[in-house]
Amino acid sequence: MKIERIPAGVYAANCYIISSETTGKGVVVDPGGSVDKISRYLEENSIEPVYILLTHAHGDHIMGVPELKQYYPLKVGVHKGDLEMLANASINLSSQMTGPTVGIEPDFTFEDGDFLTVGDLKVEVIHTPGHSKGGVCFVVENFLITGDTLFAGSIGRTDLTGGDYDTLIDSIAKKLLTRSDDLVVLPGHGPASTISKERFGNPFLRGRWT
Ligand SMILES: [Zn+2]
Ligand SMILES: [Zn+2]
Repeated sequence: MKIERIPAGVYAANCYIISSETTGKGVVVDPGGSVDKISRYLEENSIEPVYILLTHAHGDHIMGVPELKQYYPLKVGVHKGDLEMLANASINLSSQMTGPTVGIEPDFTFEDGDFLTVGDLKVEVIHTPGHSKGGVCFVVENFLITGDTLFAGSIGRTDLTGGDYDTLIDSIAKKLLTRSDDLVVLPGHGPASTISKERFGNPFLRGRWT
């Protein structure tokens, strides 16, 4: 299994490409733009992308979806809590952002505890509302893709549609910090971290882990 980080689009949201060296199949998480960079990586590594999985439906994470779908027969999945946001360009804010205005109907929805399989890749879904209603994190082997729920030393904003501070802190404390120490955190913006670093070093989570 390989994971590649490609900061994508004007807002440099981290797009992650997970692929299996055995089957050549892959999953694209949060293509926020830079479809040229994403498809170049897929071609150079002979990856056949099967799914686009979205951590949530904000414009900076989804603006590359329609263009990427033109090139590959991908199925788009999102948590049902973000369906309205995904479909509506003013709620997903793409109408106010630099880049394409997008309203997207997904091909499928997933929920907490689901496992999505692509060949020998297994992606676990953890529902972590708070940044948006349908915000999720994905676990693949020893990696945790956190979208805008958890960043290295910070957390996502909670002032946008569906956001709620207490819900976000609760999601992180109960569903992420309880995971193993060495789980590698791959956020939607900025550098990587680990669960143990965030438990003890993230100022927003102080007192939520003892
Ligand atoms: Zn967001
Ligand atoms: Zn973002």
